[in-house]
Amino acid sequence: MTIFEKIVAGEIPCNKVLENDKFLAFRDINPKAPIHILIIPKKHYKNIQEMDPALMGEMLSFIQELARFIGVDESGYRLVTNCGENGGQEVMHLHFHMLAGAKLYWDKNPSNPQSTF
Ligand code: AMP
Repeated sequence: MTIFEKIVAGEIPCNKVLENDKFLAFRDINPKAPIHILIIPKKHYKNIQEMDPALMGEMLSFIQELARFIGVDESGYRLVTNCGENGGQEVMHLHFHMLAGAKLYWDKNPSNPQSTF
């Protein structure tokens, strides 16, 4: 069981921001931006490559609701999902990172290892 599945099961606490029956948003324990929230489906998918495409619409609605809820829908944010080894995925339960709260750096050189956030 991944750490995020344990959070969904209530076995590990999280700093919850928003929740519904299918999705959970909570603060990243090691924030890379002033606001760094993780959005996960409660059902287990390893990553976006294995996710049921039919769930994407509902997940997008939840993400948009989250952005309104924390007040970044107008100011903007970055949404990232790391997939697999080359994508830098560490926790093998699908999650999106919502990064916000500042104008975020964007390195146009994709081979720069510092360019992720
Ligand atoms: P990734 O590298 O895309 O798999 O991202 C995993 C993220 O999960 C990292 O940003 C970690 O800081 C974060 N993380 C790991 N464990 C926890 C936890 N217990 N609560 C909140 N965030 C976590």
